Amino acid sequence: MLKWNDILKFAQQANPTPDKTVEKTEKEWRKQLTLEQYEVTRLHGTEQAFSSEMCQLFEAGRYACVCCESLLFDSSEKFNSGTGWPSFTQPAKDNAISYHLDNTHFMERVEVRCNCCEAHLGHVFPDGPAPSSLRYCINALALNKISAVADSNSNATTMELATFGGGCFWCTEALFQRLKGVATVVSGYSGGETKNPNYRQICTGKTGHAEVIQISFDPKQIAYAELVEIHFKTHDPTTLNQQGADKGTQYRSAIFTHNAKQQQIAQQILDKLQAEFEQRIVTEIKALDSFYPAEDYHQNYFNTHKNQPYCAFNIAPKVDKLQRKFAEKLKI
Ligand SMILES: [Zn+2]
Repeated sequence: MLKWNDILKFAQQANPTPDKTVEKTEKEWRKQLTLEQYEVTRLHGTEQAFSSEMCQLFEAGRYACVCCESLLFDSSEKFNSGTGWPSFTQPAKDNAISYHLDNTHFMERVEVRCNCCEAHLGHVFPDGPAPSSLRYCINALALNKISAVADSNSNATTMELATFGGGCFWCTEALFQRLKGVATVVSGYSGGETKNPNYRQICTGKTGHAEVIQISFDPKQIAYAELVEIHFKTHDPTTLNQQGADKGTQYRSAIFTHNAKQQQIAQQILDKLQAEFEQRIVTEIKALDSFYPAEDYHQNYFNTHKNQPYCAFNIAPKVDKLQRKFAEKLKI
């Protein structure tokens, strides 16, 4: 997830590399675009506030560049800023947009452009909603809405990521690997300050990182909400910095979210499930900062070490329980 520091770095140093570059002559742009679209995107214009219905449009879908059709934003990151321009908290991809310091109009601002074709889109400000705290203030004229229906007609599967901490990652990995719609599960470390931590450092409990798994899943087969619910029901979310006999901050219960929508869903499921627990749920729900994959020998651990005592006594019963409780959600 991009934060204001990343934006400043892009604007001051170098922008991310785009997936493709689209170049056309002014004449070609004029021919392709309406006069209004041309003035905003190619001549750095600004449309009148509240001039587009897109401000109040929150249905599912994605937003592409009106000039080159590159994907720029997803509706899950759109929010009502009240400013009169469509507003987003995050681009669809880190390299979708380029950033440029803009000192015109006696203000220091950061201009945002389509990273593929340099179309002027609007500006970005550090006063948006959590978790990114960014507000991309975008001219509706620069955007093309792609409806969710049109999107699902295309056969391309868009995978999403989820990141959970629930104690020892050998256990949580073994469980989520078995769910339908889950493509990959990677064990790793998140939530702390130490860069590129190793397992030995993690075991000290002083890195701030938790043992986590990062799941790549197909939202058409399993919803993020279902994954969150299964996460809460397959570990103990009420013991602070502890999971069974494993004690330390590295074993804390956590959900590291990838966007504003995940943050909202995770909190809703927590609130809903609290009634089913006698103790208070202490799960940390926080925007993902960084994820460091764990060493290779930790990956796919249970499946390759089934006879190892920890696996046989601690993990195998959890896998059995999952198979009984969530039978209909398992891979065949
Ligand atoms: Zn473009």
